[in-house]
Order: sequence, then C-alpha cells, then structure tokens
Amino acid sequence: ATPTALLVGTGRGSQLGILIRGPQVLEQTRRIDTIVLDKTGTVTTGQMTLAAITLADGEAEGDLLHFAASVELGSEHPIARAIIDSARTRGLDVDSPESFLAHPGHGVQAIIDGRFVVAGRGSWLETQWGMNLTPSVADAVLVGERQGKTAIVVAWDGAVRGVLTVGDTVKDTAREAIGRFEQLGLTPVLLTGDNAGAAAAVAAQIGVTDVRAGITPQGKLDTIRQLQADGHVVAMVGDGVNDAAALAAADLGIAMGSGTDAAITAADITVMNGDLVAVGDAIRLARRTLGTIK
Ligand code: ADP
Ligand code: MG
Repeated sequence: ATPTALLVGTGRGSQLGILIRGPQVLEQTRRIDTIVLDKTGTVTTGQMTLAAITLADGEAEGDLLHFAASVELGSEHPIARAIIDSARTRGLDVDSPESFLAHPGHGVQAIIDGRFVVAGRGSWLETQWGMNLTPSVADAVLVGERQGKTAIVVAWDGAVRGVLTVGDTVKDTAREAIGRFEQLGLTPVLLTGDNAGAAAAVAAQIGVTDVRAGITPQGKLDTIRQLQADGHVVAMVGDGVNDAAALAAADLGIAMGSGTDAAITAADITVMNGDLVAVGDAIRLARRTLGTIK
C-alpha cells in the first residue's frame, strides 16, 4: 500500500515510523478516552495459516482448495493469502477469478472455470445465498470457532462444498500496547467482523474485556457513532476495507501501514510497521507536543 496523497511527517513522528496527515490531527488526540481496535491485521499479525479442511460428502480436497484459492485471488483480506498459499503449496492451479466481488465483513464471490463460487461466513451463505450448511459443515464451523479460529465456508453451483479453518496469531507487542493505552486513560474496545470465539480468544490474550464480534463494516461505523453519541471521544485503529468508514468517522483514525489503501486513505495517522505500541507513542507524543505549544 502506498500512502500517496498523505502525509505530513512531524519530526519525531516520522522517527517513530508514524505518518500524520497534518498538524490539525494532533489536536484530536487531546480528549480521546476510548480506543477501538479492529482484530484481524490490527491486533493480530494477519499472517493467517490454514489449520483444517473439512469436506462436505462426496467432495475432494483439491477441488475445494482450487476453487477457494481462485476466488480469493481477487481479495485483499488476510484470509485470502492463507488459502492461496495452501493451494499453491499443494501444487494446485489457482485461476484468475471472473466477475469478482468482495463483500467486506462477509466474504467473496466470483466465477471460476464457469462455476459460481462463494466463500465466507457461514451465516452469510445462509442468509445472502440461501444455502444450507450440512451437519458436518456446521459442526466444523462450530469446532473451529470454539478453538478461536475463523471458518470460511466454500460453495459453488448452489451447494456448500466444505470449510477451510484459518488461524491467526496476536502481535507480540499487542498486550503491552493495551497496558499503555490504559495508562493514557484510554478504554480499549475490540471490534471485529469475525466470530465470537475468535474474538474472545484474542481478547483474553491481550486483556481486553469490551469485545464486540460479528460486526459488519456498517456496524463498525455505527459503533463509533454510538460511542460518540454517548459522549466519548474515540480513536479507531484498523487495516481493512471493512474498517474504512469507521476510521473516517472516528475522532482519530489510525491505519496500519500493512493495511489496505482504503484504510490508509481514511485515516489521520498511519503506523508504518503496524506496532500498536507506536500507536500509544503517537498519542503521547501528540499530547506532549500540544502541552508545549499551549
Ligand atoms: P475483522 O473485523 O476481524 O478484520 P472482517 O470484517 O474483515 O474481519 O471479516 C469478517 C468475516 O467475514 C471474516 O472473519 C470471514 O468470516 C468473512 N470474510 C471477510 N473477508 C473474507 C474473504 N476474503 N474470504 C472469506 N471470508 C471473508
Ligand atoms: Mg482487519
């Protein structure tokens, strides 16, 4: 991602690897009392790995990975990388998707080898596409989520074909960063489109108690607005297309440098190396800078 139309680096800010859109951004840091954190790619590394493959009756693993990886080739989501790499490692063909569409927070669709393929949240396949999860598929989703993982249900030609379960790891410094936010008087909130099991597992590792899972991109925006309506001044940290609206609505939007262009463009600050400790440093630095100005 190239942050082109950005950014004025304040001297110390750029030393810390923090790009600040303009001096007016500093003012926004003063009254912040709440920091909302996206999970995947923000609190976690986003370097997901495939942990399990579950097939519906009569399906073949090679087909499942081939179709899933080909549809994901159009996606910028960390889930896509895990699935594409797994397919390539097994020597499977990964084809360019036709008529690809991403549904941020839900999944992806495309035509692959003339078949209409969808991959995403099980509940989205049911409600959006009218598909039924077979018992073995529904069970694999539950087991994966209970383990704190993310289950991607894959379907083509109107039938569910299997589940790919992917796991992620929390960034090394995430827990320390949460402690620093609390020292700065900020209440952390974990906000994710992922399932409640995956969210709870990450929240426990980093010591956050306010956790909101299964939240769509629109829901992320609504959450920011509701916190503001309740009188809070809100920073939002995110990396995805699904975070862009929430980043723009927050009093201070902070993007991960590893994130999508949509997130970086919507944010006031970009943390180049994605280290959440640097987010705390940026807020402390901005407040201190203001302190010396006043
Ligand atoms: P987060 O808020 O943790 O970054 P997202 O809002 O990006 O999560 O995604 C929420 C859920 O939507 C994912 O956990 C996954 O189930 C589904 N999803 C999103 N993008 C994709 C994709 N490219 N392929 C499959 N599933 C996806
Ligand atoms: Mg994310």
